[in-house]
Amino acid sequence: MINFKPANFIEKEPEESKFFVINNDSLLSFSNEQFLRPLSAEELKWSGLDVNEKHFLGYLNDEACYVVSVEQSESILENSEFLNLRSVLGRIPDNLFEVISRSIQIINWSISHKYCGSCGAEMQQDKLERSMICKQCNAHPVYPRISPCVITLIYRKDQILLAHNVNFPENFYSTLAGFIEPGESVEAALEREVYEEVGVNVKNIEYFASQAWPFPSQLMLGYYAEYDSGEITPDKEEIDTADWFKIDNLPNVPPYNISISGMLIENYIKNFK
Ligand SMILES: [Zn+2]
Repeated sequence: MINFKPANFIEKEPEESKFFVINNDSLLSFSNEQFLRPLSAEELKWSGLDVNEKHFLGYLNDEACYVVSVEQSESILENSEFLNLRSVLGRIPDNLFEVISRSIQIINWSISHKYCGSCGAEMQQDKLERSMICKQCNAHPVYPRISPCVITLIYRKDQILLAHNVNFPENFYSTLAGFIEPGESVEAALEREVYEEVGVNVKNIEYFASQAWPFPSQLMLGYYAEYDSGEITPDKEEIDTADWFKIDNLPNVPPYNISISGMLIENYIKNFK
């Protein structure tokens, strides 16, 4: 059982610490272990890796948990390898997904905000909260970026609308998703995205659940929406084909244990009567 309590600053250093080790978009993992896990202090010490940055994430089972970024892309620990995060999604235990998302987003934020966007001076990390501040011009503090996205399963009785993105493998379909624009409500973004991508109108919008998705900084807000009107017309830019699928005859879809898209589909099928 994993218990994670997020925190921005450490109050008292526990005896044991754990470290997620990141190089660019890759996480250090062990090829002889099924699931990803953080390294112990000993393992980090003997890895031959030079730590560039270290950020406290919170308490993992009462141990201090950190993310560190390193310059090298290889470690000398036996069976260790840096693997691109997207490629190891299936090896992240459900209860570590939140911590790993947090690791990646905090490192990305720190690395990409070394200098002030207003005056160009070097930024510093604030001592009271997790933000980068500029002492030169006192511009607004910069917090880790979170980009809200709406993700929607459109249904019509025993059928669901799934779309094939131009970058997907053949016969792989998913729900529709898009970024929320400045000034938009989630519901307005949902209606706009659905209409732009597949040309249909929806009604009875209902919230389901959310998920942090650190590629690089999305917060996925999952919704159901009932079909209202219009013919499916893919936009041909993002979506090349889209169609209604009977729930007992689906194409390849995202697995329910990894992404919210898979959870939306699985949950709809389970509750359909
Ligand atoms: Zn500045």
